[in-house]
Amino acid sequence: MKVDILTIFPDFFRGPLDYGIVRRARETGLVEINIHDLRAFTKDKHRTVDDRPFGGGEGMVLKPEPIFECLESFGDVASREARLSAGAKQSVILLSAQGCRLDQTLAADLSALERMVLICGRYEGVDERISEHLADREVSIGDYVLSGGELGAAVIVDTVTRLIPGAVGNQNSTRQESFTEHAELTGDGPSSTCVSGGLLDYPHYTRPADFRGMAVPEVLVNGNHDQIRSWRRKTALAKTLRNRPDLLERVALTAEDKELLAQIKGKS
Ligand code: SAM
Repeated sequence: MKVDILTIFPDFFRGPLDYGIVRRARETGLVEINIHDLRAFTKDKHRTVDDRPFGGGEGMVLKPEPIFECLESFGDVASREARLSAGAKQSVILLSAQGCRLDQTLAADLSALERMVLICGRYEGVDERISEHLADREVSIGDYVLSGGELGAAVIVDTVTRLIPGAVGNQNSTRQESFTEHAELTGDGPSSTCVSGGLLDYPHYTRPADFRGMAVPEVLVNGNHDQIRSWRRKTALAKTLRNRPDLLERVALTAEDKELLAQIKGKS
């Protein structure tokens, strides 16, 4: 996948995209990330990227020209019409608190793209003509206001990259994570039967088995895969009920899930 990030603070990305899975994906060529300085697309000596809002009011707004010209300079980004057609493999995304909220389903959709362009706003936001005529969609990373789109862009790149086949060594590990609704796992063992199915992930423990008197649940060290699978499902259900009960309304619960939930509720 080719990713282009448009920003007035290109140095912001020194670091967040240089570690772990994203770094490996860049090194192996799975993902190519290019950062574009919008000031390079200004024409005045002050390299002005913002201006006061028409109609008055607080703050400054990012001007449309540098953003349009930066995107146009790529040459190989399809027309907006083509990008909006079914099955298009390119998308131009404006980071915005007013956008559709990023979730694992949207991240999975984006991971199938060949080209993703991320436009980072700043100040009071971006001239609305970017959303009206240039971007294909607006995406928010959550219901809060950030100072700029750069953190949001880094979040999107991270969550999308790990869903690209080959980015994570063991692909099963991304398929059984929190929020993942549909996934087919391969291989044997207890974890392969524990796809989250839209729930939160089950708890994980590692050595030592006893840390300062805090012991790992006995079931995890007894080697009984059926019991481990059932325990993981039950603890995932319990955690989801406690922290994100809204998710339980959306997932398709099996008869076993309903029985486990009844046991959990009976205890509380
Ligand atoms: N006036 C805008 C509003 O009330 O919605 C907020 C502008 S914000 C201070 C500046 C920029 O940060 C936005 O243009 C956008 O690119 C980015 N931003 C802020 N919150 C965001 C969020 N939740 N998700 C993604 N980007 C966000």
